[in-house]
Amino acid sequence: MIYCKKCLFQEINPIPISFNKEGVCTGCIHANDKYKVNWIERENQFLELIKQYKGKYEYDCIVPVSGGKDSYFAAHLAKKYNLNALLVTYYSKRFVPEGDYNLNKMKEIFGFDHIIYSPADDVLIKMHRIGLKKMGDNNMHNHMGLTTLPNIIAVEKKIPLVLWGDQGFTEQGGMHSINDFVEYTEKYRFEHDQHGFDWYDFTNIEDENLDKKDMYPFIYPAENELRKVGVRGVYLSNYFFYDGNENYKISKNLYGWKEAKKPFDRTFRTFSNVDDIHENGVHDYLKFIKFGFGRGTDHANYDIRLNLITRKDGIKIVLKYDHVVPSDLEGWCKYVKMTKEEFYEHADKFRDPRVWSKIDGSWTKIDIDGKRRVYD
Ligand SMILES: [Zn+2]
Repeated sequence: MIYCKKCLFQEINPIPISFNKEGVCTGCIHANDKYKVNWIERENQFLELIKQYKGKYEYDCIVPVSGGKDSYFAAHLAKKYNLNALLVTYYSKRFVPEGDYNLNKMKEIFGFDHIIYSPADDVLIKMHRIGLKKMGDNNMHNHMGLTTLPNIIAVEKKIPLVLWGDQGFTEQGGMHSINDFVEYTEKYRFEHDQHGFDWYDFTNIEDENLDKKDMYPFIYPAENELRKVGVRGVYLSNYFFYDGNENYKISKNLYGWKEAKKPFDRTFRTFSNVDDIHENGVHDYLKFIKFGFGRGTDHANYDIRLNLITRKDGIKIVLKYDHVVPSDLEGWCKYVKMTKEEFYEHADKFRDPRVWSKIDGSWTKIDIDGKRRVYD
């Protein structure tokens, strides 16, 4: 396995990364490139951009939010630049208490209208089950709802400008150059956010019984409808230096945003993914089962790239967190009416054979420190 010389990313990765001749990954190169950008110039470009939309529609823009620190940062920018924003939330109903508090406070704090949409309970439960069985991702419904619903509302309410936070695979893996000003595309949504699956993959499954009428927040608008409104998804990370640690400080200090009181099992960060309880839990544990790493790696990478910790510190974090069985697994199994044995039966189908070997009936892999360990 090849690992980045600077951060902790491995070559086998759900995020498309590659390495330069010095063995540094594209994610680290992107993180370094951000320091070369003239951010004052970028802010001016942003001001020029929003001029085209201000005061011309029912709302100047849509800001998709989950209530997390990055959502607060986006709403903070919308407020700072006097945009009349409409907040839009796809709500998974499985939030930690602080996440619910943060989400519900946004309307009051920022003074924006806020649409919070949630599918029916039985639809969600079925989608959790199908997500695990078919895609190895219980939270696929969440990825789909988060990335699709704001575009649906944009078309319905004829609001062309959608302000997204960062483009995930660029921020983590350097998928695009910061100088490309990449915008939201349906292709990225389908191939990356949704790993090539779409709403129809959840329908006509014999024992789950979902059909198109259950799929409202997941069906992407038709191309001609988007064009008619001129829907455009702009990433704020192209115009403002994007740093989760700073977003956290701004959210907490200016707006009383709350991090999780109870630490997460699978990461040292208490201010990331405070919304859905399974994002840092079962969902991330599935990433470990599939690829052999999790949020310990992801969150340590951010801090290494910001020079807040060393790579050696990062390795300790990875070995401490990435393999941990999360405490929400039991609650999740109860929620979807599945036994733990069934969970593993489905999850094990997705183990990458380049990462995992079964030795004497136990799953083993070689860790970042070069040692082979058993993870059962
Ligand atoms: Zn790297």
